[in-house]
Amino acid sequence: MSPTESKEQPRQPSKQLLDAIANLRKFDEDFYLNLTEEQQQIEYDKEDKIYGLGKKEGLPYEYIQDLLDIHHMVEIACQDCKQKQVSIRLQCNEPEDGVKEIMHEIPLCSECKEKRDHDEWKEENERLRNKETKNPIIGYCDKIRNEIPEADLTWQQYQERDAAMKEAVGLVSRKISDALDNQPEDPERVYKRTGKYPDGSKNKTQWLKHLKNMRRLEKQQKLEAKTDVALRSKTPIRILENTIMEIGCRCQVEDMRQGVFCDTCRLLVHVHKYMLDLFKEAAKTRR
Ligand SMILES: [Zn+2]
Ligand SMILES: [Zn+2]
Repeated sequence: MSPTESKEQPRQPSKQLLDAIANLRKFDEDFYLNLTEEQQQIEYDKEDKIYGLGKKEGLPYEYIQDLLDIHHMVEIACQDCKQKQVSIRLQCNEPEDGVKEIMHEIPLCSECKEKRDHDEWKEENERLRNKETKNPIIGYCDKIRNEIPEADLTWQQYQERDAAMKEAVGLVSRKISDALDNQPEDPERVYKRTGKYPDGSKNKTQWLKHLKNMRRLEKQQKLEAKTDVALRSKTPIRILENTIMEIGCRCQVEDMRQGVFCDTCRLLVHVHKYMLDLFKEAAKTRR
């Protein structure tokens, strides 16, 4: 929140920390069988020290965990073509009995990986096309909204969108872990250290005034959010949804087997047809 805490600081582990990790046990098949309990304890102590160092350097706990857990690289033949060698990371920390290493990703060379992704994309497109055939309103809505149907995206467009989506998700999760790692420092301690409160105020009266303003702002934002939610519940699509839910249905399966529906459902058949026709007409006038 305060400008003094820059969130975009590049974090790099120091050489000291990387050396400490390199100095840690090297994984091999019989590692745990070959070490005495005391020797194992020494390794655990080394790990604790690494976490301590990481904390001092302002590195997130999960980051250190990653460095420690997944630092065993192996060369393995690609699962699909069985030809190319792929280097893959194995997790090899504190295994349980019989579980020594965990493979988190399928060993695939870049060509085979792309081929798999491409096949998956084709399958997904097939599924989307079938969905549209069953429910043509999806296609009408794409036209009305002037959007490219998802199934019509080219492989490249699809990849670009996928990458953008992954990036956005990564950004959010990084923001959350950053917020967890950087709990705000006690304002009095900030004042003692820098002569200023976190918002830049030079005295307590100013700082308290700032807090009061922040609280007022927060209250206002909460109120606005509440109004937004209330407004959203009044969109025509929500009203239609709620209306239909409240109609309910008295259809009986034994009647349905003879093609007979309840009185309200018989009316809804017309509503559905009317809606489809309406959307179809609207779609025709676009593009
Ligand atoms: Zn391959
Ligand atoms: Zn019914």
